[in-house]
Order: sequence, then structure tokens, then C-alpha cells
Amino acid sequence: MRRVAIIGAGVGGLTTAIGLQRHGWEVAVFERAAAPAPVGAGLSLFANGFRALDLVGAGDAVRAIAGPEQRLTAGLRRSDGRRLTVTPPEALCELRVVHRADLHRVLADALEPGTVTYGKRVEGIPDGYDVVVAADGLRSPTRGTPVRYSGWTSWRGVTSRPVDLLGAAGESLGRGERFGLAPLPDGRVYWFGVVSVPPGTGFPDEYAEVRRRFDRWHAPIAEVLEATDPAAIVRTDIHDLARPLPTFVRGTTVLLGDAAHAMTPDLGQGANLALEDAATLTDLLGTRPIAEALRAYDDRRSRTQALARQARVMGRLLQSRSPLRDVLLRLTPPSVAARRLTAVQAWSPPEVLSARS
Ligand SMILES: Cc1cc2nc3c(=O)[nH]c(=O)nc-3n(C[C@H](O)[C@H](O)[C@H](O)COP(=O)(O)OP(=O)(O)OC[C@H]3O[C@@H](n4cnc5c(N)ncnc54)[C@H](O)[C@@H]3O)c2cc1C
Repeated sequence: MRRVAIIGAGVGGLTTAIGLQRHGWEVAVFERAAAPAPVGAGLSLFANGFRALDLVGAGDAVRAIAGPEQRLTAGLRRSDGRRLTVTPPEALCELRVVHRADLHRVLADALEPGTVTYGKRVEGIPDGYDVVVAADGLRSPTRGTPVRYSGWTSWRGVTSRPVDLLGAAGESLGRGERFGLAPLPDGRVYWFGVVSVPPGTGFPDEYAEVRRRFDRWHAPIAEVLEATDPAAIVRTDIHDLARPLPTFVRGTTVLLGDAAHAMTPDLGQGANLALEDAATLTDLLGTRPIAEALRAYDDRRSRTQALARQARVMGRLLQSRSPLRDVLLRLTPPSVAARRLTAVQAWSPPEVLSARS
């Protein structure tokens, strides 16, 4: 039986473990955290992420925690609530927002008991495995190349009770500031605030700072913040990789997810691409010789690195302080946004790709 060690029990590591176990591999996952405690709040999953989950057989379990489609107007608004863009619903028909902790739980439950060893920080490349998958995140010790600060920091939170979103979700834009709202299946709201600040900026009271910046924005933002436990807010400085990697594969060690292509969260695609990576790698390793599978997996660079570039451009636009940005957004036809979103989600599992070529 072929053996794989996976470093990191995040979205990418757990999904790779599920896929390889289905292909009959002996799988060991090592996670430095003492217990499953994913950092973060909500996570948007798009059609491509669900397609990847289907490929490893976990799609239905995740759909069960994701709930049905919520009929809300999506798009961009100004801080006073005036609409800038409306995203055509067909471009988002599979979009669901899940709580990250629920997603991790469902993925971990799909594994054979004892697959993940918590409290195990991996130093170096483990010996005795046919393949080592480094799914060890943004600051991957395995990758060892630097990250760069985007220029903005973020707060994320989930309300403790349901809040009425008044028929709309999406992002609202200020000058160097933005706020996002998204419904969770149980009526609670996942929110994020993003502000442009110099690197290393600290705030004595994070909750007070979020309220100071966003309380006067359109409804129901103040109510959403009021309904959030200050202790449950997570602040994260936003980084991506300083430069795209020339390869994701070194010998039989392979980088996956943020370790391979950490990007700013402006397309909401980081975890979705980690799912695609996992589905692609496991499908290839399950059906081809190892060297050939890893060579083919390395083709993931073109899609993931292009989306990392797009995410950064989108982030700059959304964080812009220029009033011209709003004029530009208002003039952009909805069909352009729909085409962009459809293209981002257009991903086919590898056997479909190889059948086409
Ligand atoms: C503010 C923000 C919002 C986001 N929103 C979205 C969104 O809506 N949709 C989306 O798709 N993506 C989103 N993302 C991106 C998403 O969070 C990441 O792309 C995704 O979590 C990457 O998964 P991963 O498994 O590669 O890495 P991670 O989730 O970071 O997991 C890596 C794991 O490796 C472990 N680890 C690290 N080093 C070691 C070691 N030496 N030994 C053992 N274990 C180790 C870590 O503890 C961690 O559990 C967002 C990111 C941010 C910052």
C-alpha cells in the first residue's frame, strides 16, 4: 500500500486525506494545533469548490451544512447603502457561506478514525513515505519563501444570533475601508471589515476600533456588530506570496493550498483552490504513477497563480480611496461581473480535462 504524510489539517490537508484514502492509500495527517480549532469565521464556497468536494466524495456532506440557496441581492454598495453593482444571481447560484469550524468538522469526520495526529508540529520532511504533501498554509515552513503584506488588515466575526440582512449581502465600500456581510444557513451573519493600514498597526481594543470605523455605515452593519461577541472577533493582516513559485513539486514533496499559492482573499477563492488542488492531486495519484501524477499536478500553477494576481488587483480596486472607483463600478455592466465570476468558477476535474485534450 502506498503511504502519504500530509502536513497540516486545514481545508487542503483534510480534503487530500479524504481523496487519497478513497484511492486506498495509507494516510497520516500531522497538525501542529493541539485540537481542531480553525481560525476564522465564515468561508465562501463556490461552484468550483463544490465540484472538487464531489470528486473526493465529500460534496453532499458539505452541502448538508451549507443549507439552501439564500435569495439576497448581491453586489457592491457604498458605505451609505447606495448600490454600485448588482451581481446577476446566475453567477452565484452555487455560492454558499459555511462556518469554517463546521467545514473542518465535516471533512475530519469523513476520515478513518486516527488519521489526524493533533499537537504534532512537523520539522523538515518526514521519512518513510512515498509522497509528502505540505498543506501547511500561508507561512509554510516547507516552502520557505517569504510572504508580502498587502497593505490592509481584516477583522472577521459571526453574530451570536440571527440578524435580518434586509434582503442584501456582499461588500460595501468606503475610502480605504470596506465591510462584507454574508448569511450563514442558521440565520447568523458572517461579516468582515477590511482597512488599509501600515504594516504592524495594532489597536488596543479591536472591537471598539471596528465599531468606530463601521457603526455609521448603512443598516444593518451596526446591528450586526452589536450582535457579535467581542471575544469572537479575529484580526488577520492580509498577505500573499511575495512571488509566484517556479514549481509546486520538489522530488516527492508537493505543496498544496495556501502553501503553494497564498493569495489575498479578494476573490473568496483561497479555500476553493485548496479544494481543487486536493481533488486534482488525489485523482492523479490514484490513477497514474507517482512521478507522472506530480508532474501533471504542477500544471495547477497556471490557474492558481493567475487567480492570485487577479485577487490582488481586485483588492487594490476595492480598497481604493479614489471617487473614480465608484464611477467605474457603476458604469460596469452586470454581464461583465457575471462573466468574470463564471470564469473564476470554471474548473473541471482532471479526468475531464485529459479527456478533452
Ligand atoms: C480574511 C480572510 C478571509 C478569507 N475568506 C475566504 C473565503 O471566503 N473563501 C475562500 O475560499 N477562502 C478564503 N480565505 C482563504 C482561506 O482561508 C485559505 O486559502 C485556506 O484556509 C487555505 O487552506 P490550507 O489548508 O491551504 O491552509 P490552512 O487553512 O492555513 O491550514 C494549514 C494548516 O497547517 C498547519 N501547520 C502549519 N505548519 C505546520 C507544521 N509545521 N506542522 C504541522 N502542522 C502545521 C496549521 O496549523 C493549519 O492548520 C480567506 C482568508 C482570509 C485571511
